Amino acid sequence: MIEFKDVSLVYPNGTQGLKDINVTIKDGEFVVIVGLSGAGKSTFIRSINRLVTPTDGELLVDDEDIISYKGRGLRKLRTKIGMIFQNYNLVKRSNVFKNVLAGRLGHTGTLRSIFNLFSKDDKALAYESLKRVNIGEKLYSRADQLSGGQQQRVSIARVLTQKPKYILADEPVASLDPPTSHQVMTYLKKVNKEDQITTIVNLHFIDMAMEYADRIIGMRDGEIVFDGPVSEVSEET
Ligand code: ADP
Ligand code: ADP
Repeated sequence: MIEFKDVSLVYPNGTQGLKDINVTIKDGEFVVIVGLSGAGKSTFIRSINRLVTPTDGELLVDDEDIISYKGRGLRKLRTKIGMIFQNYNLVKRSNVFKNVLAGRLGHTGTLRSIFNLFSKDDKALAYESLKRVNIGEKLYSRADQLSGGQQQRVSIARVLTQKPKYILADEPVASLDPPTSHQVMTYLKKVNKEDQITTIVNLHFIDMAMEYADRIIGMRDGEIVFDGPVSEVSEET
């Protein structure tokens, strides 16, 4: 469970990224955050894995306030959160299989990975994860030789090998065309339902959000201006 309690975040230059956020996200939910560019969606998501640090309030992940986490605490937090980015963040010159194995890093340790000491189980999981996003035949292609949609599916597979409790997806389809966007959203939703991974996705198109979300959070100027099930989205937005 993720709980924001009066969370605010002011960037060092004085910009208010989040303003008095109060929200609880329960285990297993598929939440889509919508809002215009600059609304604070990315700041919200990045607070949860502490890529940015709130300046006020409490942010509880599984009942622990993560705001003051550092070192080992942060590593533990990030191991249970899978991140998906707009630009995939794959190692471009590395092949698909190695990129996906990287999801095991938090579990096997950096040293093992440097020497390519992934276990048979790690490899089997990586292969299985690639099959789940229908990309099992591209194992030895270089990441940057795949299409955008394929790269995003590889990044979903990487997250799956991490066996996270949470997935945070920051504009995962913003660089993709509409059919490919729907494909990627469908995989994210499928993984959420099959593995009960709590998922938070930032999108800037409300119609896409309506199609996939269980619950929609609307943001504007760092504040939450709507929070409810898709059925309650109306003229308000
Ligand atoms: P969104 O994801 O909805 O586009 P962001 O969370 O990226 O919104 O941005 C929220 C606000 O914080 C915007 O005004 C943005 O310009 C500002 N902002 C984002 N990142 C930084 C940063 N590193 N330093 C200063 N201001 C930032
Ligand atoms: P090693 O480098 O130890 O020989 P492999 O790269 O052969 O390991 O892969 C070990 C495991 O990873 C296999 O048992 C299988 O589960 C999975 N795997 C890797 N590549 C493939 C593939 N092309 N087809 C099926 N499974 C694969």
